Amino acid sequence: MLEIKNLHVQLEEEGKQILKGVTLTVPAGEVHAIMGPNGSGKSTTSYVLSGREGYEVTDGTATLDGRDLLEMEPEERAAAGLFLAFQYPVEIPGVGNMTFLRTAVNAQRKARGEEELSSGDFLKLVREKAKALDIDAEMLKRPVNVGFSGGEKKRNEILQMAMLEPRMCILDETDSGLDVDAMRLVAEGVNALRSPERSFLVITHYQRLLDHIVPDVVHIMHDGRIVKSGGPELALEVERNGYGDILAEAADA
Ligand code: ADP
Ligand code: MG
Ligand code: MG
Repeated sequence: MLEIKNLHVQLEEEGKQILKGVTLTVPAGEVHAIMGPNGSGKSTTSYVLSGREGYEVTDGTATLDGRDLLEMEPEERAAAGLFLAFQYPVEIPGVGNMTFLRTAVNAQRKARGEEELSSGDFLKLVREKAKALDIDAEMLKRPVNVGFSGGEKKRNEILQMAMLEPRMCILDETDSGLDVDAMRLVAEGVNALRSPERSFLVITHYQRLLDHIVPDVVHIMHDGRIVKSGGPELALEVERNGYGDILAEAADA
Protein backbone atom coordinates (compact mmCIF):
# COMPACT_ATOMS: atom_id res chain seq x y z
CA MET A 1 0.00 0.00 0.00
CA LEU A 2 0.93 3.63 -0.53
CA GLU A 3 1.25 5.69 2.60
CA ILE A 4 1.88 9.44 2.49
CA LYS A 5 2.22 11.22 5.82
CA ASN A 6 2.37 14.96 6.42
CA LEU A 7 4.22 15.54 3.16
CA HIS A 8 5.64 19.04 2.82
CA VAL A 9 7.28 19.99 -0.46
CA GLN A 10 8.77 23.19 -1.76
CA LEU A 11 10.17 24.24 -5.11
CA GLU A 12 13.94 23.87 -4.96
CA GLU A 13 14.68 27.09 -6.84
CA GLU A 14 12.17 29.57 -5.44
CA GLY A 15 11.66 27.92 -2.09
CA LYS A 16 7.91 28.25 -2.62
CA GLN A 17 5.89 25.85 -0.44
CA ILE A 18 3.55 23.77 -2.64
CA LEU A 19 2.54 20.80 -0.48
CA LYS A 20 1.65 21.73 3.08
CA GLY A 21 1.05 18.43 4.82
CA VAL A 22 -0.48 15.84 2.49
CA THR A 23 -1.63 12.71 4.30
CA LEU A 24 -3.10 9.88 2.29
CA THR A 25 -3.23 6.08 2.49
CA VAL A 26 -4.18 3.91 -0.45
CA PRO A 27 -4.57 0.29 0.69
CA ALA A 28 -3.86 -2.61 -1.66
CA GLY A 29 -6.65 -3.23 -4.12
CA GLU A 30 -8.27 0.17 -3.74
CA VAL A 31 -8.80 2.97 -6.22
CA HIS A 32 -8.54 6.47 -4.80
CA ALA A 33 -9.23 9.67 -6.70
CA ILE A 34 -7.77 13.09 -6.06
CA MET A 35 -9.78 16.04 -7.29
CA GLY A 36 -9.26 19.71 -6.64
CA PRO A 37 -9.04 23.12 -8.25
CA ASN A 38 -6.19 23.93 -10.59
CA GLY A 39 -2.97 24.74 -8.76
CA SER A 40 -3.83 22.83 -5.58
CA GLY A 41 -0.79 20.55 -5.78
CA LYS A 42 -2.17 17.39 -7.39
CA SER A 43 0.52 17.11 -10.05
CA THR A 44 3.23 18.11 -7.59
CA THR A 45 2.18 15.15 -5.45
CA SER A 46 2.60 12.75 -8.37
CA TYR A 47 5.90 14.35 -9.44
CA VAL A 48 7.35 14.03 -5.96
CA LEU A 49 6.28 10.39 -5.75
CA SER A 50 7.94 9.70 -9.10
CA GLY A 51 11.17 11.40 -8.06
CA ARG A 52 11.15 14.29 -10.50
CA GLU A 53 13.87 16.87 -9.94
CA GLY A 54 13.21 20.40 -8.75
CA TYR A 55 11.20 19.57 -5.63
CA GLU A 56 12.47 19.47 -2.08
CA VAL A 57 10.74 17.41 0.58
CA THR A 58 10.99 19.46 3.78
CA ASP A 59 8.89 17.20 6.01
CA GLY A 60 6.85 14.01 5.98
CA THR A 61 7.17 10.55 4.44
CA ALA A 62 5.98 8.49 1.49
CA THR A 63 6.28 4.71 1.53
CA LEU A 64 5.19 1.91 -0.77
CA ASP A 65 4.71 -1.38 1.07
CA GLY A 66 6.69 0.11 3.93
CA ARG A 67 9.66 1.08 1.77
CA ASP A 68 10.76 4.70 1.70
CA LEU A 69 9.99 5.98 -1.80
CA LEU A 70 11.61 9.36 -1.27
CA GLU A 71 15.04 7.80 -0.77
CA MET A 72 14.88 5.88 -4.05
CA GLU A 73 16.10 6.80 -7.52
CA PRO A 74 13.25 7.04 -10.07
CA GLU A 75 14.16 3.63 -11.60
CA GLU A 76 14.19 2.06 -8.13
CA ARG A 77 10.68 3.37 -7.59
CA ALA A 78 9.60 1.70 -10.81
CA ALA A 79 11.24 -1.53 -9.69
CA ALA A 80 9.42 -1.24 -6.37
CA GLY A 81 6.15 -1.24 -8.33
CA LEU A 82 5.28 2.41 -8.91
CA PHE A 83 3.88 3.44 -12.29
CA LEU A 84 2.98 6.94 -13.35
CA ALA A 85 0.89 7.90 -16.33
CA PHE A 86 1.06 11.56 -17.16
CA GLN A 87 -1.17 13.97 -18.96
CA TYR A 88 1.01 14.19 -22.05
CA PRO A 89 2.71 10.90 -23.04
CA VAL A 90 6.02 11.60 -24.80
CA GLU A 91 6.67 10.76 -28.43
CA ILE A 92 9.98 8.96 -29.07
CA PRO A 93 10.80 9.08 -32.79
CA GLY A 94 13.10 6.32 -33.97
CA VAL A 95 12.37 3.99 -31.06
CA GLY A 96 9.97 1.18 -31.84
CA ASN A 97 7.23 0.53 -29.33
CA MET A 98 8.36 -3.09 -28.88
CA THR A 99 11.94 -2.03 -28.18
CA PHE A 100 10.73 0.55 -25.72
CA LEU A 101 8.52 -1.93 -23.85
CA ARG A 102 11.25 -4.54 -23.79
CA THR A 103 13.77 -2.04 -22.44
CA ALA A 104 11.36 -0.90 -19.74
CA VAL A 105 10.49 -4.44 -18.68
CA ASN A 106 14.09 -5.59 -18.62
CA ALA A 107 15.28 -2.49 -16.77
CA GLN A 108 12.68 -3.23 -14.13
CA ARG A 109 13.72 -6.89 -13.93
CA LYS A 110 17.38 -5.92 -13.68
CA ALA A 111 16.66 -3.47 -10.85
CA ARG A 112 14.86 -6.32 -9.09
CA GLY A 113 17.81 -8.65 -9.60
CA GLU A 114 15.84 -10.83 -12.03
CA GLU A 115 17.04 -12.16 -15.36
CA GLU A 116 16.12 -10.38 -18.57
CA LEU A 117 13.33 -11.90 -20.62
CA SER A 118 14.43 -13.73 -23.76
CA SER A 119 13.09 -12.38 -27.07
CA GLY A 120 10.70 -15.27 -27.28
CA ASP A 121 9.33 -14.87 -23.78
CA PHE A 122 9.02 -11.12 -24.24
CA LEU A 123 7.13 -11.51 -27.52
CA LYS A 124 4.79 -14.00 -25.95
CA LEU A 125 4.12 -11.68 -23.02
CA VAL A 126 3.56 -8.54 -25.08
CA ARG A 127 1.20 -10.32 -27.47
CA GLU A 128 -0.77 -11.76 -24.59
CA LYS A 129 -1.09 -8.37 -22.84
CA ALA A 130 -1.94 -6.53 -26.06
CA LYS A 131 -4.61 -9.08 -26.87
CA ALA A 132 -6.15 -8.82 -23.42
CA LEU A 133 -6.41 -5.06 -23.86
CA ASP A 134 -7.66 -5.36 -27.44
CA ILE A 135 -4.60 -3.54 -28.78
CA ASP A 136 -3.73 -3.98 -32.44
CA ALA A 137 -0.35 -5.67 -33.05
CA GLU A 138 0.31 -2.99 -35.66
CA MET A 139 0.66 -0.41 -32.89
CA LEU A 140 3.52 -2.39 -31.39
CA LYS A 141 5.62 -1.90 -34.52
CA ARG A 142 5.37 1.87 -34.71
CA PRO A 143 7.73 4.36 -33.03
CA VAL A 144 6.59 5.17 -29.49
CA ASN A 145 3.54 7.44 -29.65
CA VAL A 146 4.63 9.10 -32.90
CA GLY A 147 1.55 10.04 -34.86
CA PHE A 148 -0.66 8.23 -32.34
CA SER A 149 -4.07 9.74 -31.70
CA GLY A 150 -4.87 10.81 -28.13
CA GLY A 151 -6.76 7.56 -27.64
CA GLU A 152 -3.91 5.44 -29.03
CA LYS A 153 -1.38 7.11 -26.74
CA LYS A 154 -3.56 6.30 -23.77
CA ARG A 155 -4.00 2.71 -24.88
CA ASN A 156 -0.27 2.46 -25.26
CA GLU A 157 0.22 3.77 -21.75
CA ILE A 158 -2.22 1.17 -20.44
CA LEU A 159 -0.18 -1.47 -22.29
CA GLN A 160 3.00 -0.19 -20.62
CA MET A 161 1.19 -0.46 -17.33
CA ALA A 162 0.06 -4.01 -18.08
CA MET A 163 3.60 -5.04 -19.04
CA LEU A 164 5.19 -3.64 -15.89
CA GLU A 165 2.53 -5.09 -13.57
CA PRO A 166 2.86 -2.26 -11.03
CA ARG A 167 1.65 -2.40 -7.45
CA MET A 168 0.66 1.25 -7.48
CA CYS A 169 -0.49 3.18 -10.53
CA ILE A 170 -0.83 6.92 -10.51
CA LEU A 171 -2.71 8.56 -13.36
CA ASP A 172 -2.36 12.33 -13.43
CA GLU A 173 -5.15 13.94 -15.45
CA THR A 174 -4.74 11.21 -17.96
CA ASP A 175 -8.27 12.00 -19.14
CA SER A 176 -7.78 15.64 -20.03
CA GLY A 177 -8.18 16.42 -23.70
CA LEU A 178 -9.66 13.01 -24.44
CA ASP A 179 -12.97 12.53 -26.16
CA VAL A 180 -15.58 10.32 -24.53
CA ASP A 181 -14.55 7.20 -26.44
CA ALA A 182 -10.85 7.58 -25.61
CA MET A 183 -11.71 8.23 -21.99
CA ARG A 184 -13.77 5.07 -21.91
CA LEU A 185 -10.76 3.18 -23.28
CA VAL A 186 -8.59 4.44 -20.45
CA ALA A 187 -11.25 3.47 -17.95
CA GLU A 188 -11.67 -0.01 -19.44
CA GLY A 189 -7.91 -0.49 -19.37
CA VAL A 190 -7.69 0.55 -15.75
CA ASN A 191 -10.65 -1.58 -14.78
CA ALA A 192 -9.12 -4.59 -16.54
CA LEU A 193 -5.97 -4.11 -14.45
CA ARG A 194 -7.75 -3.69 -11.12
CA SER A 195 -6.80 -6.47 -8.74
CA PRO A 196 -6.58 -7.12 -5.00
CA GLU A 197 -2.80 -6.53 -5.10
CA ARG A 198 -2.85 -3.38 -7.20
CA SER A 199 -3.84 0.13 -6.17
CA PHE A 200 -4.63 3.20 -8.21
CA LEU A 201 -4.45 6.89 -7.54
CA VAL A 202 -6.49 8.67 -10.18
CA ILE A 203 -5.96 12.41 -10.34
CA THR A 204 -8.64 14.15 -12.30
CA HIS A 205 -10.12 17.57 -12.75
CA TYR A 206 -13.40 16.19 -14.02
CA GLN A 207 -15.91 13.89 -12.48
CA ARG A 208 -16.78 12.13 -15.74
CA LEU A 209 -13.77 9.76 -15.62
CA LEU A 210 -15.04 8.56 -12.25
CA ASP A 211 -18.31 7.45 -13.84
CA HIS A 212 -16.21 4.78 -15.53
CA ILE A 213 -13.50 4.13 -12.95
CA VAL A 214 -15.54 4.01 -9.78
CA PRO A 215 -13.20 4.93 -6.92
CA ASP A 216 -13.35 3.55 -3.39
CA VAL A 217 -12.39 6.92 -1.94
CA VAL A 218 -12.38 10.48 -3.29
CA HIS A 219 -10.03 13.10 -1.83
CA ILE A 220 -10.34 16.81 -2.41
CA MET A 221 -7.04 18.71 -2.49
CA HIS A 222 -6.74 22.42 -1.99
CA ASP A 223 -3.72 24.64 -1.35
CA GLY A 224 -1.34 21.75 -0.76
CA ARG A 225 -3.53 19.66 1.54
CA ILE A 226 -6.27 17.06 1.41
CA VAL A 227 -9.22 19.01 2.79
CA LYS A 228 -11.93 16.39 2.52
CA SER A 229 -12.26 12.65 1.80
CA GLY A 230 -15.36 10.63 1.12
CA GLY A 231 -16.97 8.06 -1.13
CA PRO A 232 -17.75 8.31 -4.83
CA GLU A 233 -20.64 10.65 -3.98
CA LEU A 234 -18.10 13.36 -3.17
CA ALA A 235 -17.14 13.51 -6.85
CA LEU A 236 -20.81 13.90 -7.79
CA GLU A 237 -21.14 16.73 -5.28
CA VAL A 238 -18.22 18.51 -6.96
CA GLU A 239 -19.83 17.95 -10.35
CA ARG A 240 -23.09 19.50 -9.17
CA ASN A 241 -21.88 22.34 -6.97
CA GLY A 242 -18.20 22.90 -7.75
CA TYR A 243 -15.61 23.18 -4.98
CA GLY A 244 -17.05 26.28 -3.26
CA ASP A 245 -18.98 24.66 -0.40
CA ILE A 246 -16.33 22.03 0.31
CA LEU A 247 -13.55 24.61 0.50
CA ALA A 248 -15.63 26.98 2.66
CA GLU A 249 -16.42 24.11 5.04
CA ALA A 250 -12.72 23.18 5.20
CA ALA A 251 -11.74 26.78 5.86
CA ASP A 252 -14.22 26.94 8.78
CA ALA A 253 -12.88 23.74 10.31
P1 ADP B 1 -2.51 20.95 -9.87
O1 ADP B 1 -1.95 19.75 -10.52
O2 ADP B 1 -3.42 20.66 -8.73
O3 ADP B 1 -3.17 21.86 -10.87
P2 ADP B 1 0.25 21.70 -9.46
O4 ADP B 1 0.83 20.67 -8.58
O5 ADP B 1 0.55 21.61 -10.91
O6 ADP B 1 -1.31 21.78 -9.21
O7 ADP B 1 0.74 23.13 -8.96
C1 ADP B 1 0.61 23.56 -7.61
C2 ADP B 1 1.19 24.94 -7.47
O8 ADP B 1 2.59 24.89 -7.60
C3 ADP B 1 0.71 25.93 -8.51
O9 ADP B 1 0.55 27.18 -7.87
C4 ADP B 1 1.84 25.95 -9.50
O10 ADP B 1 1.89 27.19 -10.16
C5 ADP B 1 3.03 25.74 -8.63
N1 ADP B 1 4.15 25.07 -9.30
C6 ADP B 1 4.28 23.74 -9.45
N2 ADP B 1 5.44 23.44 -10.09
C7 ADP B 1 6.04 24.62 -10.32
C8 ADP B 1 7.28 24.99 -10.94
N3 ADP B 1 8.13 24.09 -11.42
N4 ADP B 1 7.57 26.32 -10.99
C9 ADP B 1 6.72 27.24 -10.49
N5 ADP B 1 5.56 26.94 -9.90
C10 ADP B 1 5.22 25.67 -9.82
MG1 MG C 1 -3.00 22.01 -13.08
MG1 MG D 1 -2.01 19.00 -12.46
